[in-house]
Amino acid sequence: MQTPITTRSLFGPGPTNPYTEATVALGYPLLGHLDPLFIERIDHTCDGLRKVWGTQNARTLPLSATGSAGMEAAFVNMVEPGDVVVIAVNGLFGERMCDVAARCGADVVRVDHEYGQPIDPQRVAEAHPSPAIIAVVHAETSTGVLSDIAALGQLKGDALLLVDAVTSIGGVELRADDWGIDIGYAGTQKCLGVAPGLAPFTVSDRAFERRVENPRSWYLDLGMLGGYVGAASGAKRTYHHTAPVAMIASLEAALDRILGEGLENVWARHSAAAAALRSGLQERGFELFAAEGARLPSLTTVCVPDGVDSAAVRGYLLEKYSMEIGAGVGKYADTVWRIGLMGPNATVGTAEYILMALQDAVT
Ligand code: PLP
Repeated sequence: MQTPITTRSLFGPGPTNPYTEATVALGYPLLGHLDPLFIERIDHTCDGLRKVWGTQNARTLPLSATGSAGMEAAFVNMVEPGDVVVIAVNGLFGERMCDVAARCGADVVRVDHEYGQPIDPQRVAEAHPSPAIIAVVHAETSTGVLSDIAALGQLKGDALLLVDAVTSIGGVELRADDWGIDIGYAGTQKCLGVAPGLAPFTVSDRAFERRVENPRSWYLDLGMLGGYVGAASGAKRTYHHTAPVAMIASLEAALDRILGEGLENVWARHSAAAAALRSGLQERGFELFAAEGARLPSLTTVCVPDGVDSAAVRGYLLEKYSMEIGAGVGKYADTVWRIGLMGPNATVGTAEYILMALQDAVT
């Protein structure tokens, strides 16, 4: 028997509930991945991705896998064994970057920060005199912290700046070209308001010229993927792998939805929803985990009050409200909740609904 079909309010760290337009597009008649109409669709999707990345990079495309594959693509294409890679770590995803870079043979220089704090651009830039790459997470989903990428971009020198924008793209200000981002990867299941399954990726010409000629991954070889997206990169469009056509239709629809509302309006909507959630939590006596001034609009981290059972509250919310919020990560698993207001869920009304339900759950 099939698993029951249930509507959940997805207010955790992702996936979020998708935009209606993205869900509807999943049901469009399937196109062949070489159909001229699909080619039009992927070109339009890549144009939309350039806008949400804030880039003119020709090589901007949705990789056919989740955000972690975006991370792997970034390192496997850019790191030669022995290359010095400075990685700013202030949460789980910075840790994951260290693991992935080391597997590619990098000489990893970790710059650790306290969880809950943003990265310190000066300290990261001074960690090594001549790194090949400086890597950083823009929006640390494990701690709910936003870091200043523009400041790091100004200090990067000759290094390539590699940025994880999984939880910022489409919901939080992101300006890849203005901030000096050379390689960026993201995911669809957060502020873009699409199901998980694609990794929006962008790479500058400067970085592309420095790429590894024959990376250890065939599937994620950016040289070959240039042909996959074709026209914009100047490469002849060729078959590489079967495109996930339904997911790309869904992403195209969400991008149209976001750009139709206006990207800056969407950022403002995420900020307003987060502000309402944070102030409502503080009024009710909850303490916020992320450092003030670096709190991520798309994801709020809350300290579980003393004497409250984190898992029991999450279970109650799921049972009574069909509402998912996230647990903390690592040593904060039982002491922090993570509440996401992303994509269509980023509204003040949704924030108020969560506050009401959480108050009910803890009393
Ligand atoms: N980076 C960040 C900041 C994330 O939040 C996530 C997932 O939540 C990832 C990378 C990995 O993405 P995925 O789980 O889609 O592979």
